[in-house]
Amino acid sequence: ESPVPRDIEIARGQEPKDISQLAAEIGLYPSEVFQYGHKKAKIDLSVLRRLKYHKSGKYVVVAGITPTPLGEGKSTTTLGLVQALSAHKKKNSFACVRQPSQGPTFGIKGGAAGGGYSQVIPMEEFNLHLTGDIHAVTAANNLLAAQLDARIFHEKTQNDKSLYDRLVPDEEGERSFSKIQLKRLEKLGISKTDPDSLTPEEQRAFARLNIDVNTITWKRVVDTNDRFLRKITIGQSPTEKGYSRESGFVVSVASEIMAILALSKSMQDMKERLSRIVVAEDIEGRPVTADDLGATGAMSILLKDAIQPTLMQSLEGTPVLVHAGPFANIAHGCSSVIADDVALKLVGPGGYVVTEAGFGSDIGMEKFFNIKCRYSGAIPNAVVLVTSVRALKMHGGGPTVTPGIPLKKEYLEENLELLEKGLPNLQKHISNGAKFGIPVVVAINAFQTDSQAEWKLLEKTSLENGAFCAVICKHWAEGGAGALELADAVIEACNKPTEFRFLYDLDLPLEDKIRKIAQEMYGAGDIELSPDVRKLLENYNKQGYNRLPVCMAKTPLSLTGDPAVKGAPTGYMLPVKDVIVSAGAGFVVPIVGEISMMPGLGTRPNMYDMDIDADTGEIDGLF
Ligand code: ADP
Repeated sequence: ESPVPRDIEIARGQEPKDISQLAAEIGLYPSEVFQYGHKKAKIDLSVLRRLKYHKSGKYVVVAGITPTPLGEGKSTTTLGLVQALSAHKKKNSFACVRQPSQGPTFGIKGGAAGGGYSQVIPMEEFNLHLTGDIHAVTAANNLLAAQLDARIFHEKTQNDKSLYDRLVPDEEGERSFSKIQLKRLEKLGISKTDPDSLTPEEQRAFARLNIDVNTITWKRVVDTNDRFLRKITIGQSPTEKGYSRESGFVVSVASEIMAILALSKSMQDMKERLSRIVVAEDIEGRPVTADDLGATGAMSILLKDAIQPTLMQSLEGTPVLVHAGPFANIAHGCSSVIADDVALKLVGPGGYVVTEAGFGSDIGMEKFFNIKCRYSGAIPNAVVLVTSVRALKMHGGGPTVTPGIPLKKEYLEENLELLEKGLPNLQKHISNGAKFGIPVVVAINAFQTDSQAEWKLLEKTSLENGAFCAVICKHWAEGGAGALELADAVIEACNKPTEFRFLYDLDLPLEDKIRKIAQEMYGAGDIELSPDVRKLLENYNKQGYNRLPVCMAKTPLSLTGDPAVKGAPTGYMLPVKDVIVSAGAGFVVPIVGEISMMPGLGTRPNMYDMDIDADTGEIDGLF
């Protein structure tokens, strides 16, 4: 029996301080803080203007080894580290984390507030709707989807004249184009502003997007693990006159809009990214964008509050920014550029911002550096690589770890032989971090079932393989006090001059970028591109997307594309099955192996254990 109470009991046992007090402590002006009740607040982006010329703090990213499906403690370590830095070492520090999706919260994995004595509170609010950002992402995404299908329908059912007249209505005897319509004319090379002066050919070119329905990539989204929406047929009502087509839903956090929210630097940047979203191609193979559908402004309005990060606090009363939540397996898996930016300015020189990158270093960390840091311009100072004895035993050939099923005895007692066999996975992740030129601090997340000898082996292996240092961390059981050594190690690592470098140059052809990631981060011998993928890459090249970074969609449960393969294999062939462009987010997404953009619910999802007390409103079952 664990002496540490359940996450929700610990979280509830600590009364959060009023968020206005925390906001004042971290140097925000009251006018920059929009409270949502007393425990969370949005931060106005004007703070970035006010602090424009302030120096930034040190920037630390928390990544991990290839995890078991239970997670190895990255969120917990992120929180434990800032609690140690802030509450104990008295350094200005922020944790920047993602908002969890309802999918895993009600599905299998649970929320993402951290755990034990290292958590964001109130965890119920954190894990549920928070300030509604995911709902806003869903709304913006689905507005564009609705407009896309409606437009196709109207183009199919109307003649040129009626279509044009309806697109540019006559108001009180005067017709005029809207701002976004003028942009479309510019794209078509028509330099006229009077709607009545267009020739019939020009009217036709303006009015007809001629979308090739076979090329539609835009899908509807919902933030629920709803497997029956993976493939659907839309337009079945007789009012749609037989224009039905096959489509599907994606979970909201895997959407391009979520990635855009996470990568935007400002409202203006977000608007530009939204405008560049490609939903399909026209019959001549040209990209059709959100701008063409007139949707950019409306989507921006829906996201106007979502672009502000939400301020919460850790169990020890230190600041946490929660913002955006792109999945790491199919999107880039990092919290937002804006939140990190705000935090870096607020902590100032001498302060620390600890931000999380999803799953193993091959997934979240690689994208953190090559995508997020590239777009934000922020230079990271250190990597914290979270590792656990149990995950390495799994890599050494231990029995399958399944959520909801008790761990087998290999994981509950000392087993140095199994651990030793799993070490190549740790070695690979250390070398992945080191390739970016910054120090790698290995954080050994201590579980009660680990032995001293097992920890010693991990420390020794880490140091022998190029880690800056390796420390045992007990913040899950002890809070910030259990991560003091980690805090010292991070401070020391951040004092080293940075020699940060990207893994690849943007000028490299897309295929070579994919190959470089596969070979250097995953240990693959080479990549295998199907003829379809080759054609698509050629097409993206023609359309001018070749200079985008690459956002690999790959299982997080293996360094390879197959979740069943553990350890750190080398020399294998990595098959790329599909490739899509997220022109708004600003990356090309190669899809490796079977990746579901819409998770499902298992036989016994977490929801079975959830309840709310009708009298007190107390929630149970979240973790
Ligand atoms: P990740 O961010 O890597 O997915 P989390 O930090 O969310 O992992 O941790 C996953 C789960 O494991 C959480 O429920 C957390 O409470 C639990 N956990 C983390 N560290 C420990 C630990 N040292 N001992 C026991 N449970 C832990």
